[in-house]
Amino acid sequence: MASDNPFPSAEHLLCAKCGACTTVCPVYLVTGQEALTARGRLHLLAKTAGERQSAAYRNIFSKCLLCDACRQVCPRGIDLPAMVVDSRRRFPAMPGRGKLIRTLIEKCLPNRRIMAGIAKLLRISAPVLAKLPADSGLRLKLGLSGPPKMRKLPDKESESRVRSSGVNIATMLFTGCFAAHLDKSITAAAVELVSRKGNGAPLIPAAQSCCGLSFYGNGQLDEARRLARLNIKVFEGSTAPIVVPCGSCFSHLAGYPDLLADDARWQPRAAAFADRLREFGTFLAAAPLRLDSEQKPPAATLRKKVVYHDPCHLRHRPEFISAPRALLGNLPWLELRETPNGPKCCGFGGLFNPAHPDLSRRIAERAVEDILAVNPDLVTTTCTGCLIQLRQHLGQADRRIRVLHLAQLLTEKPER
Ligand code: SF4
Ligand code: SF4
Repeated sequence: MASDNPFPSAEHLLCAKCGACTTVCPVYLVTGQEALTARGRLHLLAKTAGERQSAAYRNIFSKCLLCDACRQVCPRGIDLPAMVVDSRRRFPAMPGRGKLIRTLIEKCLPNRRIMAGIAKLLRISAPVLAKLPADSGLRLKLGLSGPPKMRKLPDKESESRVRSSGVNIATMLFTGCFAAHLDKSITAAAVELVSRKGNGAPLIPAAQSCCGLSFYGNGQLDEARRLARLNIKVFEGSTAPIVVPCGSCFSHLAGYPDLLADDARWQPRAAAFADRLREFGTFLAAAPLRLDSEQKPPAATLRKKVVYHDPCHLRHRPEFISAPRALLGNLPWLELRETPNGPKCCGFGGLFNPAHPDLSRRIAERAVEDILAVNPDLVTTTCTGCLIQLRQHLGQADRRIRVLHLAQLLTEKPER
């Protein structure tokens, strides 16, 4: 995780040049450019100590998804993604195309009033959006899975009633921006599933904000820390587990103690917050959850083939990999298929996508090719970034493949 000193431990000098990182880096695998591997970037850092920042240097450090794959395989344990963030800290902004989208994301995500305005606009336009055909480009751009379902979620008044009533809060939910504002059916489905674990609906603090991952990834650490403190504060006053249905948000929220490591007042609060975090799939799979498993299995030919897409941030712990598969295995109307070459990055990477759309598309195409190889009816995942990317790229396939958040799929009624 980043600190104020760009290269505090001269970690960039430790590289053994073994090449393990080149076998997993999605950017290298589509470009073949050594400079874009962890090894290549470390070599550049060793030569320049991050001092010279030519356009070529910036370009190299902007072309990283922060997917963490290199760090996971590096025998020296080098945290290259953190060093990329340190480098970006001194860029005015990530270079590349899509400046308007990037600016919109940067201005909108931390501002609840703007996000609420966008959500309101979408609500007003819902009857129009509902008429859009399923394969409309606009629907794909908005990342909507179908006609928008605008179910009412706990509001600020009901939240203060619950908080002041002395009733024990069993769980809380960190929704994430996409599920809170643009596809609320994900949050509604997550609420339903978490409620089925008992003790009622989870509390959703209305003042929660963007997790801050986009700002962190863009090197805007002051803003990332401001959002971290805000979220820590609004979830305090309870020891209830905080369930997080988005893998990218979850991994960034879990990093708050490192992000605030130099802040003696906030670091312990960040650690207490991180202790309460629960990844969505593992939370649901950890105790009995009544799904559709008591239904009689349909004939094999009627079952829907489903692929679970592992988000990069949830690919490195066995329980994150097994839990969603165990949940899907409870649904007799589904048949789980695995892609032939193991999990692949979808190429979204937050601001990487608008900064480098062509590279993002080429990385997505590798993942899509593997998914199409097993001919699924459905694809599901637990990261909203992956969801947006896969909806867009699988939406261009010859046959219709629905892409749903795991919560949406687990609450769906099978067709009879
Ligand atoms: S974080 Fe991912 S994209 Fe960046 S260098 Fe490492 S493997 Fe490549
Ligand atoms: S895996 Fe680690 S040690 Fe090996 S080349 Fe990559 S960065 Fe260097």
